[in-house]
Amino acid sequence: MAENTHRVVGIDLGTTNSLVAIMQGGAPVVIPGEDGSAIVPSVVAFDQETHTGFAVGNAARDMLLTQPANAVYSAKRLMGRDLADVEPELKLFPFKLAEGLQAGEVLKLNVGGLTLTPPEISAYVLLQLKKNAERFLGGEVTKAVITVPAYFNDAQRQATKDAGRIAGLEVLRLVNEPTAAALAYGLDKNADGTSREGTIAVYDFGGGTFDISILKLRDGIFEVITTGGDTHLGGDDIDNLLLAVAIDDIRGDLGVEITKDPAAMQSLRKAVIDAKIALSANDSARLAVEVEGKLYAREISRAQFEQLIASVIERTAGPVKQALKDAALTPEDIDEVVMVGGSTRIPAVRALVSGIFNLEARGRKLHTELNPDEVVALGAAVQAQILSGTDHVATNELLLLDVTPLSLGIEALGGVVAKIIQRNSTIPASATEHFTTGVDGQTNVAIHVLQGERELAKDCRSLARFDLKGIPPMVAGLPRIEVKFLIDANGILHVSAKEQRSGTQAQVEVKPTYGLTDEQVETMILDSFDNAEADITARQVIEARNEAQTILEATKKARQQPVWQQLTSVEHEAIASAISEVEASLKDEDHKVIRNAIAQLDKHTRRLAELMMDSAVTGALGGKNMATADEGLGGDIGAPTTAPHAFAPAQIDDKK
Ligand code: ADP
Ligand code: MG
Repeated sequence: MAENTHRVVGIDLGTTNSLVAIMQGGAPVVIPGEDGSAIVPSVVAFDQETHTGFAVGNAARDMLLTQPANAVYSAKRLMGRDLADVEPELKLFPFKLAEGLQAGEVLKLNVGGLTLTPPEISAYVLLQLKKNAERFLGGEVTKAVITVPAYFNDAQRQATKDAGRIAGLEVLRLVNEPTAAALAYGLDKNADGTSREGTIAVYDFGGGTFDISILKLRDGIFEVITTGGDTHLGGDDIDNLLLAVAIDDIRGDLGVEITKDPAAMQSLRKAVIDAKIALSANDSARLAVEVEGKLYAREISRAQFEQLIASVIERTAGPVKQALKDAALTPEDIDEVVMVGGSTRIPAVRALVSGIFNLEARGRKLHTELNPDEVVALGAAVQAQILSGTDHVATNELLLLDVTPLSLGIEALGGVVAKIIQRNSTIPASATEHFTTGVDGQTNVAIHVLQGERELAKDCRSLARFDLKGIPPMVAGLPRIEVKFLIDANGILHVSAKEQRSGTQAQVEVKPTYGLTDEQVETMILDSFDNAEADITARQVIEARNEAQTILEATKKARQQPVWQQLTSVEHEAIASAISEVEASLKDEDHKVIRNAIAQLDKHTRRLAELMMDSAVTGALGGKNMATADEGLGGDIGAPTTAPHAFAPAQIDDKK
């Protein structure tokens, strides 16, 4: 199966469990290991003699109790963290840190007589998944997409990439776990393939962690808007409650202290987990274990179980409500709720979540159609397919980046840069800004796409130019030009411009990283630091001049209007001298001088503006058509930034 050798796999590297998946016949599937199970517990056991990771997954999990010094789990909790960060983890988990670690130094653990970093430990889990995939596909696997919690910071993400590299996997992309889950459900697309919009909550209740994420879906791109949760809440807590009940029972019924017997404890833990799993499907389960030749057995009903665990599962409600609050959303604003993590198989958990989002009353349902413990890996496989499906990856023509190394924008009036996508934005990314024309009757607008950190277009890298043609002639400032930037998953930048009143549009596609080396990117960033002050001063002057031109134009136009005659001669004179002041200030290199002159003119024309406003409204009410009135307002003093002599679009500051 040579065709499979270059295939990219999707990996869910979990705290408790890990999985690998791949697209097959248009759908993602999880890949089973030799033992038939696709779920590989994230546990590694080491051999004291051979100094190798000799067991991973189910085989290693059994060693946790019998040879605790040789096995390690939950390494994900330590990825990319330093000594101070991991204090809480050390209290709760039997991690043995290497001796003599200094603050700020890379964490190292002692396990099985070896000293290993968390990425090295995780690499053993990845290696196992890689092996499983290679056996299944019949060829070498060297590329992967790996998922990470949405809240992972740069260091934690870097550590995950390092783990991949150590395992011999080129990590093409790190994808947020909630995003992967939403991708697995295809929530980014409608049935007809068009992109969908909406707000999605991803509730992930796993083995040792609980995460809630709220995603916004726009133009087929997921954006994580808030995350929350509890890093010490999960299925383990449920197991521990059941375990405590059984330990007490055994002490009372059989007079045996089971905690002193590691092998029996191991069997009991297994029995408890089996009972918990059975209770997700059945009304009751039998819990049985042999200790010191005696049999302990009892029936647990679903009702008893739910009562026992109510306090644990209710602890997930607080973070969900907080996440909604942080996103300024109500439960009813959530369109879809995706259930992730093995613990969401518990019916009481589903009922709780459905209740929080008021789904039943809204005629909606939780997404539980896919296996909750597989869904993240399945989504990673979908993303892997997207990345491997393009010839850009295959031919290595394009640098695959997780973030845009440099800002992207367009040239605006006066040669300044309007940045649309900021440097370091995670891709895919999209952003929209609005512009207008600078000249009355302007029918063409030049869109000049730029890359770089500098304030002026001449100092940035020119990526593309195109014209938006055929705009119906309108007063400057009236057209509303929407410029949209979209960097897709393959790093291709799509720029489109649309004049919204007339629907005229044009677009272009470019590869921002084409032919750009790391050193060039570095130089461009450093240059922007070196020139920051001068650039900002230059930009301020240009912006002040643009505004001065606008107000001069508008005032001169207003002088032709009948309302001009309603002003006194003193007012006329004051305006005339304020105009000369502004005109003189245009030559000044200090933006404050220009701004002062503008403020003076503004002050003296205030009554004129009011009179014009009144007459425009009266005109409209008096039966004149609205377009005329609208134009009157469009030419009003203080209208949006417009200026003659320039065909680049003028920026509208619609963030105010
Ligand atoms: P993580 O993402 O934290 O690595 P998972 O999503 O695989 O882990 O969740 C593992 C947890 O799910 C474990 O506590 C496991 O016992 C629990 N679990 C798995 N299946 C079921 C089930 N049918 N009912 C209840 N809990 C389950
Ligand atoms: Mg998980």
